[in-house]
Amino acid sequence: MKREFVPERLDVAAFAAEAAALSADDPVPNYPRLVQELALPAPDAVVSWEAVGEQRTGALGKVEPWLHLTAETTVPLVCQRCLAPVDTLVASDRWFRFVADEATADAEDDESEEDLLVVSRDFDLRALIEDELLMEIPVMPVHEVCPTPIQLSSSDDDFQAAEEAKPNPFAVLGALRSRKPDGGK
Ligand SMILES: [Zn+2]
Repeated sequence: MKREFVPERLDVAAFAAEAAALSADDPVPNYPRLVQELALPAPDAVVSWEAVGEQRTGALGKVEPWLHLTAETTVPLVCQRCLAPVDTLVASDRWFRFVADEATADAEDDESEEDLLVVSRDFDLRALIEDELLMEIPVMPVHEVCPTPIQLSSSDDDFQAAEEAKPNPFAVLGALRSRKPDGGK
């Protein structure tokens, strides 16, 4: 019987042993740490991801669980040239190998091309997806061509309107005068 795998509590070894796969299109707001990096909330943006398990035999003839994770989303980041939002593709494609414990991960990390994680029966796959996307956010997101900046010098009509709205100093003076108590009456 096929086992149901849950992304939030993934039994990594079983997932790899069955060469199982999981995928989803999650709303970006489900990834709050990612949302914090955005120029605007992106309620309609989606994180598309896929995880595939695989068992491989390691150097010592021991079977090890591996995971291939791909994830991508297009989100509004702050353009570092014009500071306006710029829709940016953020994508990750990475292999992970699961090891017995933190000590093994530390010991083997340097000589491994793949990323090492500690094997778990309730691994939080969505936290990993979020970590990976956060790592792939470009340091300097920019528009290919920045949108024409909003003109700071106003058009003639606006200028005229602003001038009219500004009180004429002589009119102000006149108003003050007329408000003066008229001592004669
Ligand atoms: Zn820009």
